[in-house]
Amino acid sequence: MVFRHKEAKLVTISAVMPTYARTDLVFERGEGLWLTTVDGRRFLDFGAGVAVTALGHSHPHLVAALKAQAEKVWHTSNLYRIAGQEKAAERLVAHSFADTVFFCNSGAEAMECALKMSRRFHQAQGFKEKFRVITARGGFHGRTLATIAAGGQEKHLDGFAPMVDGFDQVAFGNLNEARAAVTANTAAIVVEPIQGEGGIIPAAPEYMKGLRAMADEFGLLLIFDEVQTGMGRTGKLFAHEWSSVTPDIMALAKGLGGGFPAGACLATERAAQYMTPGTHGSTFGGNPLAMAATNAVLDVMLTAGFFETVQAVSAKLWSKLEAIVARHPKVFESVRGKGLMIGLKCKVPNNEMVSKLVAEGLLTVPGGDNVVRLVPALILGDAEIGEAISIIDRVAGQMAA
Ligand SMILES: *Cc1c(COP(=O)(O)O)cnc(C)c1O
Repeated sequence: MVFRHKEAKLVTISAVMPTYARTDLVFERGEGLWLTTVDGRRFLDFGAGVAVTALGHSHPHLVAALKAQAEKVWHTSNLYRIAGQEKAAERLVAHSFADTVFFCNSGAEAMECALKMSRRFHQAQGFKEKFRVITARGGFHGRTLATIAAGGQEKHLDGFAPMVDGFDQVAFGNLNEARAAVTANTAAIVVEPIQGEGGIIPAAPEYMKGLRAMADEFGLLLIFDEVQTGMGRTGKLFAHEWSSVTPDIMALAKGLGGGFPAGACLATERAAQYMTPGTHGSTFGGNPLAMAATNAVLDVMLTAGFFETVQAVSAKLWSKLEAIVARHPKVFESVRGKGLMIGLKCKVPNNEMVSKLVAEGLLTVPGGDNVVRLVPALILGDAEIGEAISIIDRVAGQMAA
């Protein structure tokens, strides 16, 4: 503990508000999938800053784009047109179900926009009673008051009462429960195509189809939270592309700016028709720097063959992980997820596994349901796969012993 004296008062809280239990590592630089600490230790990064640095660290195209923009103009506000924002929006629209995009800075804000839009869609049509949103248990949508209510997890809500009203939680994957939760007050349904923080739990394609049909039958808006699953993470630009289902609204963030804070809420024209001037806003959202990073990410991801390569590399990683899981039945239960959004379901405590992997030089992220998340940059190669596999194999061996 660090003690500091501040005006005659003994202060014991760290200057950085202690809302995280941080691992004692300080990184100085990164290149590709490798991070180096200030004291020169190298780590293989399969956490990617919680599924954010989708193109690795210091990607030359991203660095060049951000540097070039930094020398022109950083921020102008949404009082003016922003060329990079228009370009990024047009590209996201061209490559998705959506007709329009709102830019913000984080996943929680993207979800906040989605939730507000779903209320306004009904209320602007005179249905003032429609505001409730059906959400899935185990879901995660951010840490604002509304999104912790949407996520409904006790550990996130504790001490922050009263809970924002308007969320009805049902079991993830259960269509009957979702249908039974619909009332005259329901405005929308929210689901992650693969629950991320909840422990890398994929939604079955029939469940996604069922939710779409249900939304259409009851006149509800279907919202996909693709903050973690989006931007190529599963081997397609958006995870819902693996099913035949499209949402009315979708939240993006994490990989969108490749490490520069950027979020987006995409919607069909129908869902967004009442989002007129003055209804929503963000001072920073979609500023020139964020859009330079976002457009650079899109330049790389929209290059022909990019997703085929991601799918091929994930297939290699998956086959090696499946072999490891089979080799260490006392340590691992299964491997699940899609593409490079991978959960190792453990039989040993996941936090212990994550710490031991760090000690051997591999960074991963713990998730719900006793899972270790592997969410490496999409530019992963054979060398990094080999290195990660040998570390996981070694640690699993130690833990089995
Ligand atoms: C990370 C995450 C969020 C929250 O994003 P922030 O940028 O931390 O606000 C929301 N939804 C999902 C699915 C996420 O994985």
